[in-house]
Amino acid sequence: MLTKLLSFKPSLIEPVVNLSACDVLRLDQIDAQISGNKVFKLLGHLQRAEEQGFTKLLSFGGPYSNHLHALAAVGERLDIPTVGVVRGYSHVPLTPTLEDCQAMGMALVFADKKTYVQRYLADYQQQLATEYKAYVIGEGGQGASGEEGCELLARYCQRSDSLPYDEVWLAVGTGTTALGLAKALHRQGSQCRVVGVNAVADQGECLQRWQQNMPSANWQLFDQYHHGGFGKCPEVLRALIQRYDQQDLPLDPVYTAKLFWAYEQQLLLDPELAEKRVLLVHSGGLQGRRGFSL
Ligand SMILES: *Cc1c(COP(=O)(O)O)cnc(C)c1O
Repeated sequence: MLTKLLSFKPSLIEPVVNLSACDVLRLDQIDAQISGNKVFKLLGHLQRAEEQGFTKLLSFGGPYSNHLHALAAVGERLDIPTVGVVRGYSHVPLTPTLEDCQAMGMALVFADKKTYVQRYLADYQQQLATEYKAYVIGEGGQGASGEEGCELLARYCQRSDSLPYDEVWLAVGTGTTALGLAKALHRQGSQCRVVGVNAVADQGECLQRWQQNMPSANWQLFDQYHHGGFGKCPEVLRALIQRYDQQDLPLDPVYTAKLFWAYEQQLLLDPELAEKRVLLVHSGGLQGRRGFSL
């Protein structure tokens, strides 16, 4: 199942032209349909669904959700029917994201705001599981099963000269991807530091979760680079995206643009950073650019 989804390509790592000593892991380029960290987050859930005998997958997301997009792509690739519960009223016309999801075979169900807020409740999830005979995945693929799949990311974080990276940087939403990666690195005895750039103004929620769950003390979370909160993409970030577009490194406005912004800012603040071997994880999400007229 795994090999059908992810072919291991060490060539996903490339240097960042304007930033010496820094590489980028292009998870946006796994293949034409499958891309980004969301696929890794789905792996553990796929395993659970199979073990429990489910033949359909259901999850939640907004009208530009990377998670629903990845779920639809995975479902299409593995021939597993998928259902997407979408926040908001029926979008007519559909967003490009939802159009893709539908084209990849996902059945869309629209939930009004009052219903959608229940998405974390066990009762509501059980009701959906029964109604659609589907395995229910929490919004964004978070939780222990989500982390499990992200442990695989450690395999992709190897330098071609086999010298280890000093730091791996990721954009953070729920923090699940970074936690999974950190667990795998820790188990391997790696000294590599996991550095997160929070794309969400979450009042310290992720920080607290990491303090409780990070396998080692060797990590850092930047909470000051969210540019006003989740989904906010002010002019300075748009300019950064354009700059990277010109060197064929397309970034998404919600996550990876904030990651590159943070790294550039920290380079100015901390000259020692330029001496470190750093890997920036491009976690995908490029399909979401269509919601920002980029
Ligand atoms: C969802 C997402 C993230 C955040 O992943 P978490 O595991 O929630 O921290 C980062 N980048 C992109 C492109 C995403 O779609």
